Amino acid sequence: MTNNHHTGKVIIAGAGPGDPELLTLKALRYLQQADVIIADRLVSEVILDEYVKKDALILHAGKQSRKGASTPQFIINELLVEYALQGKLVLRLKGGDVSIFSNMMDELNALSRYHIPYEIIPGITAASGAAAYAGIPLTARDHANAVRFLTYYKTDLLEDDYWRELAQTGDTLVFYMSSDTLDALVSKLLQFKIAADRHVAIIEQATTPMQNVYGCNIHEYAKKWGGSNFVSPTLIIIGKVAALQQQFQWLSNSNSKEYYFKPIGKSVKEEARA
Ligand code: SAH
Repeated sequence: MTNNHHTGKVIIAGAGPGDPELLTLKALRYLQQADVIIADRLVSEVILDEYVKKDALILHAGKQSRKGASTPQFIINELLVEYALQGKLVLRLKGGDVSIFSNMMDELNALSRYHIPYEIIPGITAASGAAAYAGIPLTARDHANAVRFLTYYKTDLLEDDYWRELAQTGDTLVFYMSSDTLDALVSKLLQFKIAADRHVAIIEQATTPMQNVYGCNIHEYAKKWGGSNFVSPTLIIIGKVAALQQQFQWLSNSNSKEYYFKPIGKSVKEEARA
């Protein structure tokens, strides 16, 4: 990689969980200025269709667990570096917030290695978006004193002591990337005696027109929703607060099983070459 021009800059920004109106004004300003946009799968197409400048290059760098054609992280890092060294303003647009279950650190390491200037812009994370659009106050008084952001997508990862603590805490538990393992997750919490007043809320495609919320007492989960296939992306909220959804729901279920976010197609390299 040679640097014949002045170095550009990389903006790493969160696009929010789906609803394009949840974008920050700062991310919007950079969308309108960027020469190159490298977007995650979980970024609304509306944002990319409506707010970028006319001649901007848009690359889709999606990742989807257990699905083919994901873009390897090292290629994303290379693209960020390559375009910045060409003097371009590069916007790396991620779903939700940039620092929660994202590979931001890898990208920052790559940029630091080449002394490329960058800015970081936060976004609304799926937990905040889903909670708001489902009507769940995550740390409601007398319900929960804290909230934890977790994931359970590698089923062998967590020790029994860890599960016991999760089952017995009063904290609200939010699970990202865990809808495929939800049956196992719930049975672990039951095994370690989660309290009778804990509920689970499953929020599919939160903040999009295809949003659906499924809820029940966690002890009734297997009967009600066990074995279901939820549409990606789905977020799980567990705790006393999840019951409040029935009371404060302000949006009806879409009852749609259509995808709001396009499932992964070609990887970014193929697309860049197409
Ligand atoms: N950085 C993102 C999270 C990326 S991990 C953020 O801050 O939100 C991807 C996981 O986020 C998905 O598997 C899902 O659990 C959750 N997620 C992201 N967008 C979502 C949405 N619109 N509805 C429900 N869950 C979502």
